[in-house]
Amino acid sequence: MANLPISQYEEKIVETVDKNPVVVLIGETGSGKSTQLSQMLRRRGYTKSGVIGVTQPRRVAAVSVARRVAYELGVQLGEEVGYAIRFEDRTSENTRIKYLTDGVLLRESLSNPELNQYSVIILDEAHERSLNTDILLGLMKRLIKIRSSNLKVLVTSATLDGDKVSKFFSDCPILTIPGKLYPVEILYSKERPSNYVESATKTALDIHVKEPEGDILIFATGQDDIEKLVSNLEDKVRAFEEGSCMDAIILPLHGSLPPELQVRVFSPPPPNCRRIIVATNIAETSLTVDGVVYVIDSGYVKQRQYNPSTGMYSLDIVQISKVQANQRAGRAGRTRPGTCYRLYPSRVYHDEFLDVTVPEIQRSSLAGSVLYLKSLNLPDIDILKFDFLDPPSFESLQDALKQLYLIDAIDEDGAITSIGQKMAELPLEPSLSRTLMEANNYGCISQALTVAAMLSAETTLLSVQSSKTEKKRKHNMSNLPDGSGLGDHIQLLQIYECWDQTDYDIGWCKDNNLKVRGMLFVKDVRKQLAQIMQKISKVPLDVQANGTVEEFHRGYRNLRKALCVGYANQLAERKLHHNGYRTLGFKSQVVQVHPSSVLRQDELGKFPDYVVYHELIATPRPCMRNVCAVEMRWVVPIINKLKTLDVHKLSGGIGDIEEEPEGKLPDLAKKDVDIPGVPD
Ligand code: ADP
Repeated sequence: MANLPISQYEEKIVETVDKNPVVVLIGETGSGKSTQLSQMLRRRGYTKSGVIGVTQPRRVAAVSVARRVAYELGVQLGEEVGYAIRFEDRTSENTRIKYLTDGVLLRESLSNPELNQYSVIILDEAHERSLNTDILLGLMKRLIKIRSSNLKVLVTSATLDGDKVSKFFSDCPILTIPGKLYPVEILYSKERPSNYVESATKTALDIHVKEPEGDILIFATGQDDIEKLVSNLEDKVRAFEEGSCMDAIILPLHGSLPPELQVRVFSPPPPNCRRIIVATNIAETSLTVDGVVYVIDSGYVKQRQYNPSTGMYSLDIVQISKVQANQRAGRAGRTRPGTCYRLYPSRVYHDEFLDVTVPEIQRSSLAGSVLYLKSLNLPDIDILKFDFLDPPSFESLQDALKQLYLIDAIDEDGAITSIGQKMAELPLEPSLSRTLMEANNYGCISQALTVAAMLSAETTLLSVQSSKTEKKRKHNMSNLPDGSGLGDHIQLLQIYECWDQTDYDIGWCKDNNLKVRGMLFVKDVRKQLAQIMQKISKVPLDVQANGTVEEFHRGYRNLRKALCVGYANQLAERKLHHNGYRTLGFKSQVVQVHPSSVLRQDELGKFPDYVVYHELIATPRPCMRNVCAVEMRWVVPIINKLKTLDVHKLSGGIGDIEEEPEGKLPDLAKKDVDIPGVPD
């Protein structure tokens, strides 16, 4: 790929890398950073002393770029060039160029803190400012001191403030690859359209009919809108009279698309045909689609944000930043002058858009990352003083410490416990890891592994959900005891168990409106988690047999007990009427069970008094998604532990002394906890 802008700078790049332990490289999206740097360093001989690792914040980019590099080098994917993403490792002992997600590299450093197998680590797409890349930046700073003679670190970015990163790495050199961008004319709409999907459809059709050839790239917010846009456009294009304009193919592009459909965007269109690509912000910088001349920018992005003061996640459609808007526009000028149609007025761009995107570290729950850093047991790393490029708020660090304390991952002084140490080895969020640890004590590890795997794949699992398919699935599962009063985790377990009974029949998935790819993924994830659990526990996993209805119920009950321990920080007590609950814990708020939940009243018409939930989302009223009924006697020790919480001590004496948690904690211990007829 000699014609990519980066290729002319090969000599300069490899010389700078030879002479410096850390180099920052700034280059426009599409200049060849992801695909070419690793190959240049391979030519320079860096694969002789180790593996060249290239991290990507997104799974799809890791897979797609590895595929491309394997193709360019004429090797089989998984051999000299491979990739590793969570739950999928396509590398072998011959692998010398390894593309991996930043999360996988963090995990590797748990078992090998010095990452000795790597001669070069390229932190690619650093401008995305993913939480994991931010943590890796801090770890690399430390590692480079230890391995200064045999490790090279490159940080690459399309837009990142190079000076800031260079300062972070003791003024390391910055190389800038001049971009070959053609001018892009920016057109603003007079007003924000009330429905951007309609407006984008209309704009795309206008361009298609009136403008010369060149592909169109539309930035939408998520899969739903992409599907709507694709279907709208297909209908409209089909309705054009034959010969009235050139042909068009409409291509969706988003992270949950099967890989074979994703790669379609890399094939050029047939002659006299225009491609209209409808993408999420994945096409902003992660994947470069060639041939785009027209960009339609909705001005929005879907973003998950965590609020540490409420413990609540929201999946919000938010306005993009100026940097993102300019990246999007830039996609139109890669091959010749282009046009960007912004579906918002210039006033919105200037007055309302933030200058830069808020880094993920400042809008995520940090429990997993804090546990990870603690599990490294590095004497010189104190989580509250960790060297972050942009530090998270003190409040979110404390929130993470409190969560970890409640699930026994750290002790009252903030030190990692042996449970926490084992939890960190599982590639799961802390609540699920803790559930697995506990399930092994209760003999329900098999069921817990299934639930953890099902939750890990949830978005790729269910095709459209409707009450009809729900009924049908229930009917097909009628050989299992009805678990709807127990909540969603039990339902997920039952779905898998039924499939298991059919010997993993693909037809059964289709019949029950479950995505085959998703279910096969669950099966694979479950197997991998079982292997890790086996390694951690060092003794055979304690698996309970299922057979009679009583045995099923005992299994479900034990699983719910384990979930209660794992999700101790996500607990709610029934209040008001119907399905209204109040969260117990650090912050108390009124919440509802999410409408998608299977949780129903029991025979007495009652919802369970206590539930744990997988996550709290604002939709816009606070809702608990994936809930599981738990019993009061399991809740009591958690409430008691909450009362002993001393945040000042947890944070090693740093920060303000916290007042009492807001909202009074219930005095459950004083209540009669002896529920007759329910053996413990
Ligand atoms: P950067 O990292 O600087 O954004 P890349 O190395 O990702 O640039 O892209 C360089 C070129 O390689 C682009 O023209 C892009 O379209 C092409 N490319 C990248 N991945 C693939 C792929 N999987 N298939 C075909 N072409 C690809």
